[in-house]
Amino acid sequence: MMEDVADVIAALEGDATADAAAQVISLATTYFETTRRGEGPVSSGRSPNEIAARFDGPMPEDGTDLATIVARIERDVLADANRLAHPMYMGHQVSFPLSTAVWTDAVISALNQSVAVEEMSPTLTSLEHRVIRWMCGAVGFPAGSGGTLTSGGTEATFTALLAARAAALPDSWMHGVSEPRPVVLCGEHTHYAVTRAVAELGLGMRSAIAIPSVNYRMDVAALEREIARLRERQIPIMAIVATAGHTATGSFDDIDAIGALCDGEGLWLHIDGAHGATAVLSDRHRHRVRGIERARSIAWDPHKMMLLPLPAGMLLVRSERELQAAFAQRAPYLFHGSDDATRVRDQGVRSFQCSRRADVLKLWVVLQRLGRRGIALLHDHLCDLALQVREELVRHSEFEILHAPDSNILCFRYVGDRRADDETLDAINREIRERYNKSGAGWITATLLGGRRVLRVTMMNPRSTRAHIRALVDGLLGVAADVVGARGPA
Ligand SMILES: *Cc1c(COP(=O)(O)O)cnc(C)c1O
Repeated sequence: MMEDVADVIAALEGDATADAAAQVISLATTYFETTRRGEGPVSSGRSPNEIAARFDGPMPEDGTDLATIVARIERDVLADANRLAHPMYMGHQVSFPLSTAVWTDAVISALNQSVAVEEMSPTLTSLEHRVIRWMCGAVGFPAGSGGTLTSGGTEATFTALLAARAAALPDSWMHGVSEPRPVVLCGEHTHYAVTRAVAELGLGMRSAIAIPSVNYRMDVAALEREIARLRERQIPIMAIVATAGHTATGSFDDIDAIGALCDGEGLWLHIDGAHGATAVLSDRHRHRVRGIERARSIAWDPHKMMLLPLPAGMLLVRSERELQAAFAQRAPYLFHGSDDATRVRDQGVRSFQCSRRADVLKLWVVLQRLGRRGIALLHDHLCDLALQVREELVRHSEFEILHAPDSNILCFRYVGDRRADDETLDAINREIRERYNKSGAGWITATLLGGRRVLRVTMMNPRSTRAHIRALVDGLLGVAADVVGARGPA
């Protein structure tokens, strides 16, 4: 019973011990341990209503002992969580997080330094500047570049486009967006974070112009034609957004060619590298982002291909001044001498967030633990797994593979004996995924490609092996036979 504050404080002190921590942390270690062997289902398939019902009930009036709560988490949360650490999880672009980073998360929370203001986080603000410099160096940005950690790629891209807006329309901070409103050009398969940012920035969603793709990459000739058309009509262009690692297919736009075009035209190039920018760390995959240093801004999510737990996003800018200008046109550097003397170390001036947790620590710890090389090897391994999926699928004529994997993502669909029409195949593929995931044997995603419903795997788990990939293919074939059998002859 919590009768007076002394009882509460006693509970807090008790919870601050290594014993109490071990009780909570054992949930995570047991989870890692059981999933390591690939035992049990990947997901429980229990209905959302059933899950919601167990959490019904009023707000607790009194406290409960920690052991009861730990048991409850185990029963009510873990049991029906999607188990990303299970080697048969091949679903979304969310990591089976590196354990070192998971434990560091507890330290980040324990210290609870807000990196927005340097005096609140004397060590971790410095560390964020240091790690940002490393990452700027990795992409080939010059001195004077900078950036900030973000909640993810969505925030990074929004912030980047805000900086692009400040560059294109310096008055917009004070007066709002006036006519003629500038446009943003992006690929037709761009993540919705881009079009949404355009709308959020007051430009109107119609100011996002989609450039068609060839083989899931932005058609550079079409981009060039569109720029010429806009120039002729004197419509201002705020930014070009290229993608490094498209969400649906993992394919990379031709950044070098797009970058050269933007350089020639004096246009702001933003690269949405939320998924794929980690390729800059890889000796084998760096060519996919050739020319990335031509960007003015880059969104890069360590919580994707660097396998960090959420949240760990990042925005890099070629000129730190331009990022500061995003949030306040009257930044201190405008009024005082040289950059160095007046460099604002507080990260709050570069970020949407005010209070912000020091996620940089887990990124730094993982870089210490594995080094650039270790991260690169993990990255390349995940990409190799997607190639293995393709190798296993091509043995079966029932599958159609939709693209060559540039990264760790592969889209394909079940076509059976190829006699069914596309509408029927859409329905069959939808049902295959639903049944397969519900079975608990594995977990994959789906997307729309060229208007067709297709299956999609994202290999985010270094524990997955070729045997698991074969189990995926066999599992899908088994489910497909049931689905097609149940539909009867066409
Ligand atoms: C994941 C992703 C995003 C969104 O990033 P969040 O971290 O989920 O906010 C944006 N663009 C691309 C290409 C992505 O893969």
